[in-house]
Amino acid sequence: MSTLVSSGMIHQLEAIGPFDAEACMNCGVCTATCPLGVDLLPRRLFRYAALGLEDRVIQSSQAIFSCLLCRACEASCPAGVHITENMRVLRHWLLQEGF
Ligand code: SF4
Ligand code: SF4
Repeated sequence: MSTLVSSGMIHQLEAIGPFDAEACMNCGVCTATCPLGVDLLPRRLFRYAALGLEDRVIQSSQAIFSCLLCRACEASCPAGVHITENMRVLRHWLLQEGF
């Protein structure tokens, strides 16, 4: 098992729902297609989550809640990452943590 999937945060996220940020290749296609134009979404955000960087994810809460769940990024993701489902899981986790 890799260090990415063994992080405590990943287990918490996977307990909430399907979370496949570790499949992200960090290519940036999603960021280029996101209508919000937020550099963080979803590429860097998923890296933070996959690495278990809880503080970075918490600091990104505004961007996470600003996501439109429009799926524009998902349609162009070459790795087939379930981006919007991951966003829902991250929102649930943040609310669970009291943010
Ligand atoms: S398009 Fe998909 S693989 Fe590329 S950075 Fe975004 S989520 Fe990751
Ligand atoms: S689902 Fe969210 S991250 Fe993806 S393109 Fe839409 S607003 Fe951007």
